[in-house]
Amino acid sequence: MSVELKPASKYERKIFYKEEWNVKDVPDFIRNSLTSREFGFDHYGNGPNDRYKVFVDDLRLKRFIKVKQPFAAYCSVAFYDKPNQRKGWQKSELVFDVDAKDIPIRTCDCAEGEVCEKCLNQAKEIVLMIRDVLSGDFGLTNINLIYSGRGYHVRVLDEDVMDASSELRGDIIQYVTGSKLPDLSNEYGFNDLQPFIIPFGYPKNFTRWSKYTILHLRRSSKLDDVNNQLLRDVLKHRNLLQEDLWGMFRSNIGPIRYKKVMNAVSRINMQITDTKVSIDLKRILRLPSTLHSKVSMKSTLIKNIETFDPFDDAVPKFVYERND
Ligand SMILES: [Zn+2]
Repeated sequence: MSVELKPASKYERKIFYKEEWNVKDVPDFIRNSLTSREFGFDHYGNGPNDRYKVFVDDLRLKRFIKVKQPFAAYCSVAFYDKPNQRKGWQKSELVFDVDAKDIPIRTCDCAEGEVCEKCLNQAKEIVLMIRDVLSGDFGLTNINLIYSGRGYHVRVLDEDVMDASSELRGDIIQYVTGSKLPDLSNEYGFNDLQPFIIPFGYPKNFTRWSKYTILHLRRSSKLDDVNNQLLRDVLKHRNLLQEDLWGMFRSNIGPIRYKKVMNAVSRINMQITDTKVSIDLKRILRLPSTLHSKVSMKSTLIKNIETFDPFDDAVPKFVYERND
C-alpha cells in the first residue's frame, strides 16, 4: 500500500507509545548493554537536547518512554564506564548511515529533503551492497540492519572493529563504499587495513560501486571536473560497462578523461553514506522500535532484509486509522 509520509501529531505519538510500543522491541544488542549507553531525547521536535540519560534496566527505560512519549529517542553507539557523563569511553559500534534523502544520485523525482518508495528502495540496495562487503571482505558477522524511518542504519558490533579509531573507521568507509581510486603501486593504498582484507578485494569493490554510480548518472548530475560534453560521452558509452569498468576506457573517452570521470565517481561514492556519522565515536542514533515523528514511521530492527518493506513493516497502526 502507499502511505503518505507526514508528521505524527502529539495525540498520535501518545497512542503509539501507549498502545503499540513495547520495550521488548528494542533490539537485544542494545538491551544487553543498556547500562553502558547514553540515551538522548527530543521532546518537542527541536533536536535531542535531553542528553546524558542512563537506564539501569528495561523497566526504567519503558517507564520513561511510556510517560514522556518523546518526539524522538536516541541511544549512543558508544559504550562508556560513565555514560551519564559521556566519560570512560570503551568502544563504539561501527555505523553506516544511509539516508534516502541524501543519496547522491536518486532515480526518483523527490524534491530535496523528501523521500519516497523509490529512493527508499535505492537505500535498501545500497545497504545490501554495504553488508556484502562487510561480511565478504572484512569477515564481520555481527551486522545489524535497522530501518531508521527515512533510510537505513548498518550497525556492526564485532569486537574486532568496535575499538577502531576514527581514522581507521574513515579508511573502512572508503573501502566499503569504493570512494578511493585504487592505487596499484601501494597495496591499493590501504596499508593499515591489510590485516582485515582479502587480496584484490578493493579493486573489485571499487569497480562494483563505480559501475553502480555510473549506471545511475543522469543528464542533470553534477560531477566535479566533468563538463557537459564529457558527461554526455559517459552516458552514451555506459552500456560498455556491462563487462567491466575498462569498457568505457576503450571507447572514445580516452585515458585522461577516463581518470577525471573515475575521480568524480569516487567522490560520489563517498556520499553514499554519511561519513560524519561513521567517524563520530560518540554519536547517538535513533533508538530502534521508536517513532520517527517527522514521517510517522517506526525505526525497526530488520530480521530479513530481502523481504523487508518499510511500507508494510514500519508503519505504526495509527497511520491506518487516519481518515483524511
Ligand atoms: Zn524519492
